[in-house]
Amino acid sequence: MTRILVIEDEERTALEIVGALNEVGMFTRHSADGIEGLQLAMDGGFDAITLDRLLPGLDGLEVLRQLRARGSSTPVLMVSALGEIDDRVRGLRAGGDDYLVKPFALVELVARIEALIRRPRGESTETVLQTGPVRMDLLNRKVTRGERTIDVTQREFRLLEYFLRNAGQLLTRSMLYEAVWDYKFDPGTNLIDVHIGRLRRKIDCEGEAPTIVTVRGSGWKFDASE
Ligand code: CA
Repeated sequence: MTRILVIEDEERTALEIVGALNEVGMFTRHSADGIEGLQLAMDGGFDAITLDRLLPGLDGLEVLRQLRARGSSTPVLMVSALGEIDDRVRGLRAGGDDYLVKPFALVELVARIEALIRRPRGESTETVLQTGPVRMDLLNRKVTRGERTIDVTQREFRLLEYFLRNAGQLLTRSMLYEAVWDYKFDPGTNLIDVHIGRLRRKIDCEGEAPTIVTVRGSGWKFDASE
Protein backbone atom coordinates (compact mmCIF):
# COMPACT_ATOMS: atom_id res chain seq x y z
CA MET A 1 0.00 0.00 0.00
CA THR A 2 1.18 3.48 -0.83
CA ARG A 3 1.95 5.54 2.25
CA ILE A 4 2.10 9.32 2.21
CA LEU A 5 3.28 11.57 5.01
CA VAL A 6 1.32 14.84 5.08
CA ILE A 7 3.14 17.62 6.94
CA GLU A 8 0.72 20.54 7.04
CA ASP A 9 -0.26 22.82 9.90
CA GLU A 10 -3.45 24.29 8.43
CA GLU A 11 -6.13 21.94 9.65
CA ARG A 12 -8.52 22.45 6.76
CA THR A 13 -5.84 22.02 4.10
CA ALA A 14 -4.54 18.93 5.89
CA LEU A 15 -8.00 17.38 5.98
CA GLU A 16 -8.50 18.06 2.28
CA ILE A 17 -5.14 16.56 1.33
CA VAL A 18 -5.64 13.49 3.53
CA GLY A 19 -9.17 13.03 2.16
CA ALA A 20 -8.05 13.24 -1.46
CA LEU A 21 -5.18 10.78 -0.95
CA ASN A 22 -7.36 8.35 0.99
CA GLU A 23 -9.93 8.51 -1.77
CA VAL A 24 -7.44 7.10 -4.30
CA GLY A 25 -6.49 4.32 -1.88
CA MET A 26 -3.37 5.82 -0.33
CA PHE A 27 -2.63 5.50 3.36
CA THR A 28 -1.73 8.77 5.10
CA ARG A 29 -0.03 9.90 8.25
CA HIS A 30 -0.47 13.53 9.25
CA SER A 31 1.75 15.85 11.23
CA ALA A 32 1.12 19.55 11.89
CA ASP A 33 4.64 20.33 13.03
CA GLY A 34 8.03 20.52 11.28
CA ILE A 35 10.08 18.80 13.96
CA GLU A 36 7.65 15.93 14.43
CA GLY A 37 7.20 15.68 10.65
CA LEU A 38 10.96 15.37 10.12
CA GLN A 39 11.13 12.65 12.77
CA LEU A 40 8.31 10.69 11.14
CA ALA A 41 9.91 11.12 7.73
CA MET A 42 13.23 9.84 9.05
CA ASP A 43 11.54 6.82 10.60
CA GLY A 44 10.83 5.98 6.97
CA GLY A 45 8.32 3.76 5.29
CA PHE A 46 6.72 6.55 3.24
CA ASP A 47 6.54 6.54 -0.55
CA ALA A 48 6.25 10.33 -0.71
CA ILE A 49 5.79 13.38 1.50
CA THR A 50 3.65 16.49 1.06
CA LEU A 51 5.39 19.25 2.93
CA ASP A 52 4.00 22.68 3.72
CA ARG A 53 6.45 25.55 3.19
CA LEU A 54 5.73 27.43 6.44
CA LEU A 55 5.40 25.26 9.53
CA PRO A 56 5.72 25.65 13.29
CA GLY A 57 8.81 24.02 14.75
CA LEU A 58 10.85 23.77 11.57
CA ASP A 59 10.37 25.48 8.21
CA GLY A 60 9.46 23.17 5.30
CA LEU A 61 12.65 23.84 3.36
CA GLU A 62 14.71 23.12 6.46
CA VAL A 63 12.80 19.87 6.99
CA LEU A 64 13.69 18.88 3.43
CA ARG A 65 17.33 19.95 3.80
CA GLN A 66 17.74 17.87 6.96
CA LEU A 67 16.00 14.89 5.39
CA ARG A 68 18.44 14.89 2.49
CA ALA A 69 21.43 15.58 4.75
CA ARG A 70 20.50 12.47 6.73
CA GLY A 71 20.32 10.34 3.61
CA SER A 72 16.57 10.07 3.01
CA SER A 73 15.57 10.01 -0.66
CA THR A 74 11.78 9.94 -0.19
CA PRO A 75 10.30 12.24 -2.87
CA VAL A 76 8.80 15.48 -1.57
CA LEU A 77 6.00 17.67 -2.89
CA MET A 78 6.38 21.11 -1.32
CA VAL A 79 3.10 22.96 -0.88
CA SER A 80 3.71 26.68 -0.96
CA ALA A 81 1.72 29.91 -1.08
CA LEU A 82 2.43 32.08 -4.11
CA GLY A 83 4.46 34.65 -2.16
CA GLU A 84 6.71 31.92 -0.74
CA ILE A 85 8.01 30.74 -4.10
CA ASP A 86 11.68 31.59 -4.46
CA ASP A 87 14.67 30.05 -6.21
CA ARG A 88 15.11 27.43 -3.52
CA VAL A 89 11.56 26.23 -4.04
CA ARG A 90 11.93 26.36 -7.83
CA GLY A 91 15.10 24.33 -7.49
CA LEU A 92 13.13 21.42 -6.05
CA ARG A 93 12.13 20.25 -9.48
CA ALA A 94 15.75 19.95 -10.56
CA GLY A 95 16.42 17.76 -7.53
CA GLY A 96 13.64 15.32 -8.42
CA ASP A 97 11.11 16.79 -6.02
CA ASP A 98 8.20 19.04 -6.96
CA TYR A 99 6.15 21.92 -5.65
CA LEU A 100 2.57 23.02 -5.84
CA VAL A 101 1.19 26.52 -5.30
CA LYS A 102 -1.73 27.13 -2.91
CA PRO A 103 -4.60 27.19 -3.62
CA PHE A 104 -4.54 24.05 -5.74
CA ALA A 105 -7.01 21.55 -7.14
CA LEU A 106 -6.90 18.24 -5.29
CA VAL A 107 -6.72 16.32 -8.58
CA GLU A 108 -3.52 18.26 -9.28
CA LEU A 109 -2.01 17.26 -5.94
CA VAL A 110 -2.87 13.61 -6.43
CA ALA A 111 -1.49 13.58 -10.00
CA ARG A 112 1.79 15.13 -8.82
CA ILE A 113 2.15 12.68 -5.94
CA GLU A 114 1.55 9.79 -8.32
CA ALA A 115 4.13 11.20 -10.74
CA LEU A 116 6.70 11.55 -7.94
CA ILE A 117 6.15 7.98 -6.78
CA ARG A 118 6.50 6.56 -10.29
CA ARG A 119 9.52 8.65 -11.23
CA PRO A 120 12.63 6.49 -11.40
CA ARG A 121 15.28 7.59 -8.92
CA GLY A 122 18.47 9.18 -10.15
CA GLU A 123 19.49 10.50 -13.54
CA SER A 124 18.00 8.84 -16.56
CA THR A 125 20.51 7.48 -19.04
CA GLU A 126 17.97 5.97 -21.40
CA THR A 127 18.45 6.69 -25.08
CA VAL A 128 15.32 4.90 -26.24
CA LEU A 129 11.81 5.23 -24.86
CA GLN A 130 9.12 2.79 -25.90
CA THR A 131 5.55 2.37 -24.79
CA GLY A 132 3.38 0.01 -26.78
CA PRO A 133 4.00 0.61 -30.50
CA VAL A 134 5.43 4.12 -30.03
CA ARG A 135 9.20 4.39 -29.88
CA MET A 136 11.45 7.41 -29.44
CA ASP A 137 15.15 7.36 -30.22
CA LEU A 138 16.34 10.25 -28.07
CA LEU A 139 19.84 10.44 -29.54
CA ASN A 140 18.78 10.50 -33.17
CA ARG A 141 15.52 12.35 -32.40
CA LYS A 142 13.53 9.76 -34.29
CA VAL A 143 9.93 8.80 -33.59
CA THR A 144 8.28 5.67 -34.90
CA ARG A 145 5.00 3.89 -34.43
CA GLY A 146 5.45 0.29 -35.52
CA GLU A 147 7.09 0.53 -38.94
CA ARG A 148 5.92 4.09 -39.52
CA THR A 149 8.37 6.97 -39.07
CA ILE A 150 6.77 10.13 -37.71
CA ASP A 151 8.05 13.67 -38.28
CA VAL A 152 7.53 15.85 -35.23
CA THR A 153 8.53 19.39 -34.34
CA GLN A 154 10.89 20.04 -31.46
CA ARG A 155 7.97 20.99 -29.19
CA GLU A 156 6.03 17.88 -30.16
CA PHE A 157 9.13 15.80 -29.46
CA ARG A 158 9.37 17.20 -25.92
CA LEU A 159 5.66 16.71 -25.40
CA LEU A 160 5.79 13.09 -26.57
CA GLU A 161 8.91 12.42 -24.49
CA TYR A 162 7.11 13.67 -21.38
CA PHE A 163 4.10 11.51 -22.21
CA LEU A 164 6.24 8.39 -22.67
CA ARG A 165 8.27 9.01 -19.53
CA ASN A 166 4.98 9.18 -17.63
CA ALA A 167 3.02 6.60 -19.58
CA GLY A 168 -0.25 5.59 -17.95
CA GLN A 169 -0.10 8.58 -15.63
CA LEU A 170 -2.58 11.46 -15.56
CA LEU A 171 -0.77 14.61 -16.66
CA THR A 172 -2.54 17.84 -15.86
CA ARG A 173 -2.44 20.99 -17.94
CA SER A 174 -0.07 22.71 -15.52
CA MET A 175 2.27 19.70 -15.36
CA LEU A 176 2.54 19.81 -19.16
CA TYR A 177 3.11 23.56 -19.21
CA GLU A 178 5.93 23.22 -16.71
CA ALA A 179 7.58 20.25 -18.37
CA VAL A 180 7.31 21.29 -22.00
CA TRP A 181 6.95 25.08 -22.02
CA ASP A 182 8.75 25.90 -18.75
CA TYR A 183 5.75 27.99 -17.64
CA LYS A 184 4.77 27.89 -14.02
CA PHE A 185 1.26 29.13 -14.71
CA ASP A 186 -1.37 28.35 -17.25
CA PRO A 187 -1.16 31.21 -19.77
CA GLY A 188 -4.91 30.88 -20.27
CA THR A 189 -4.74 29.95 -23.94
CA ASN A 190 -5.45 26.75 -25.83
CA LEU A 191 -1.75 26.35 -26.68
CA ILE A 192 -1.54 22.86 -25.20
CA ASP A 193 -4.74 21.68 -26.85
CA VAL A 194 -3.44 22.81 -30.24
CA HIS A 195 -0.10 21.03 -29.81
CA ILE A 196 -1.65 17.87 -28.43
CA GLY A 197 -4.17 17.87 -31.26
CA ARG A 198 -1.36 18.06 -33.85
CA LEU A 199 0.76 15.45 -32.12
CA ARG A 200 -2.21 13.13 -31.77
CA ARG A 201 -2.98 13.34 -35.48
CA LYS A 202 0.59 12.26 -36.20
CA ILE A 203 0.83 9.48 -33.61
CA ASP A 204 -2.66 8.08 -33.76
CA CYS A 205 -3.61 7.61 -37.41
CA GLU A 206 -6.94 6.30 -38.57
CA GLY A 207 -7.36 2.63 -37.77
CA GLU A 208 -4.74 2.73 -35.00
CA ALA A 209 -5.59 2.43 -31.31
CA PRO A 210 -5.54 5.89 -29.70
CA THR A 211 -2.60 6.44 -27.35
CA ILE A 212 -2.98 10.06 -26.28
CA VAL A 213 -6.18 9.99 -24.29
CA THR A 214 -8.11 12.94 -22.89
CA VAL A 215 -9.10 12.60 -19.23
CA ARG A 216 -12.12 14.85 -19.08
CA GLY A 217 -11.71 17.89 -16.88
CA SER A 218 -8.29 16.77 -15.62
CA GLY A 219 -5.73 16.40 -18.39
CA TRP A 220 -4.26 13.73 -20.62
CA LYS A 221 -2.75 10.31 -20.39
CA PHE A 222 -0.53 8.25 -22.69
CA ASP A 223 -2.13 4.84 -22.75
CA ALA A 224 -0.92 2.14 -25.11
CA SER A 225 -2.52 -0.75 -23.26
CA GLU A 226 -4.96 -1.58 -26.08
CA1 CA B 1 1.65 26.53 6.98
